[in-house]
Amino acid sequence: MFNLKHVVHDWVVEPVLSFVAPAQCLICGEPLLQSHKVVCQSCYSKISPLDPAYLESLRDEIRTPYFDDLIVCYPFDQTFQYLIHLLKYQRQFSVAELFGERLAHFVPLNFDLVTAVPLNPARYKERGYNQSELIAKQLSNITRIPLSSNLLIRLRNTQSQTKLSREERKKNVKDAFTINGEVEGKRILLIDDVITTGSTLNECARELKKNGASWVTAAALATPTDFFQSDDISQMDVGDRMLNQIHG
Ligand SMILES: [Zn+2]
Repeated sequence: MFNLKHVVHDWVVEPVLSFVAPAQCLICGEPLLQSHKVVCQSCYSKISPLDPAYLESLRDEIRTPYFDDLIVCYPFDQTFQYLIHLLKYQRQFSVAELFGERLAHFVPLNFDLVTAVPLNPARYKERGYNQSELIAKQLSNITRIPLSSNLLIRLRNTQSQTKLSREERKKNVKDAFTINGEVEGKRILLIDDVITTGSTLNECARELKKNGASWVTAAALATPTDFFQSDDISQMDVGDRMLNQIHG
């Protein structure tokens, strides 16, 4: 999507800044060693892995899974919230590199292709990129699993899922996707940034299976482990709060 302000930022401002100023940790602002491209070792070590017991309970909550396996790396904690906010709202694309690398440690390599859950067309038009696709692309670069861009197409502008209950989420995404490509007999790795109730990933997996995919692994970077106790997990609010807590 052509947007002059974004083009200038991505192709002029960012490269110049990264040339004249040494890279800093995105979280604490300390100068980075060459080997740490996005966050320093100290901040990286604070990104905790997801409790396997929670992943099991999430699997159990999805009563009719269409995917064959589910992988989730992190709890949706403060550090993750902050990083995903930078990627989604502040065009810090290096976060996708960090996430892609992280995910690459978790997934097996026996896939025919990797693809991402598509954004709402309206959201894509406004943002100009799909953060999950950037993560999938990085993972593809590392693992050499071929990336299939735009394999899944969102047929309509579904309502944002953040304020909806589990049942409402399921209804909201029902039949919202179609595919644009050949998946017959293929083993597919399907990526999303955040999984909450699993409705979106599951609906995408259903579409892939319906069209003949032989195996679908759904993989997300993080899941809000307090979702079922919380009635408001708006990421925009959370991101803004995080920015205040960390830098203000
Ligand atoms: Zn740091």
